[in-house]
Amino acid sequence: MTKLLVVVDYQNDFISGSLGFEKATKIKDNILTLLKNHQDDIVFTFDTHDENYLKTQEGKNLPICHCIKDTLGWQMPNDFDIYLKNAKKIFYKNTFGSLELANFLKQNYYSSIEFCGLVSHICVFSNIILAQSATPNSKIILHKNATTSFSESLEKNAYEILQAYGIELL
Ligand SMILES: [Zn+2]
Repeated sequence: MTKLLVVVDYQNDFISGSLGFEKATKIKDNILTLLKNHQDDIVFTFDTHDENYLKTQEGKNLPICHCIKDTLGWQMPNDFDIYLKNAKKIFYKNTFGSLELANFLKQNYYSSIEFCGLVSHICVFSNIILAQSATPNSKIILHKNATTSFSESLEKNAYEILQAYGIELL
């Protein structure tokens, strides 16, 4: 019965960089507390784009460069280094959801999967939906104090949908 903690896209560009917003800075300690207290496996996702970002479909919808591989904005804050070093796996993805993470969850059963990170109604939401399809018998939990959004109304909508899907919101 192993438990997995998934930290989604807690990267500088979403915190204080090109797509940063103040609420994102305030959940850092809560994520670090989850990381510190978690006994079992931990994985991370990294939003990862290249110089051609603006030409991608995401770039057309959101024409703000972010998370360009190997830049400071792509990295997570330094406090996360120790956890990144010990992570079971790191998933680099060039879109909201990580199919690699979903595949990993299909192949490695966890009794519970806990989510935190950024942004609640976008990449966190997308990865939870993928996770649920990949491993329907796992309990999926979202830590509300360790995720957030720049849009309160979209976040509220996302929470309602997740609850309707049977996701536990803590
Ligand atoms: Zn992106």
